[in-house]
Amino acid sequence: MRPLLIATANPHKLDEFRAIFSDLPYQLLSLNDAQLDINVEETGTTFQENSQLKALAYARAGGLLSLADDSGLEIDALGGAPGVYSARFGGESMSYNERFHLIYEHLRGLSLEQWTARFRCVITIAEPSGCHRSVEGIIEGVISEAPRGENGFGYDPIFLVPELGKTTAEISPEHKNRISHRGQAARRARVLLEDWPRLSSSLE
Ligand code: IMP
Repeated sequence: MRPLLIATANPHKLDEFRAIFSDLPYQLLSLNDAQLDINVEETGTTFQENSQLKALAYARAGGLLSLADDSGLEIDALGGAPGVYSARFGGESMSYNERFHLIYEHLRGLSLEQWTARFRCVITIAEPSGCHRSVEGIIEGVISEAPRGENGFGYDPIFLVPELGKTTAEISPEHKNRISHRGQAARRARVLLEDWPRLSSSLE
């Protein structure tokens, strides 16, 4: 079994990755398991840059094959905002309800056809040597006319999946994993991991 560091402080993400990678020949380690307590500043302007920054920093600090992700909400009428600033939109101390109000203030006055949005997630797997590969997952949707649902986190109550007529806060966690940006990216990362020994030698 090859060790793989899952470089996230979010226990929900760790569980999600454990479920998706459960039958792979990797021993998944959390930051706690690896006793790594470093702070990587997310200074990139894209999800790709930030996930790469994190995966490489943790791979080098821990001397381990490492996986990191970066994700967020892109609203077309806001020029792709909040994007990489999703967790800090409107200020670090703002509640998500306040963030929703801010978004509705921007969208009010536009026709509903212009309320399109997507969640995007990029996962990077990196080796201490610097070899790395990234994969992406996207789920398209629209901002709901009002927040709905209790499940999930962050912007889920205002992210409506038109085919379901429900927000991602109104579906079960299992259903969300099947369709979400992170679920899709994780399944693509799984393919990378299955093939990693060959990929890593071809990247050197
Ligand atoms: P990070 O990938 O943990 O840095 O997530 C960035 C931010 O994007 C989160 O704090 C949320 O605000 C938002 N976000 C990312 N994925 C989701 C999701 O699945 N549902 C709701 N919000 C999300």
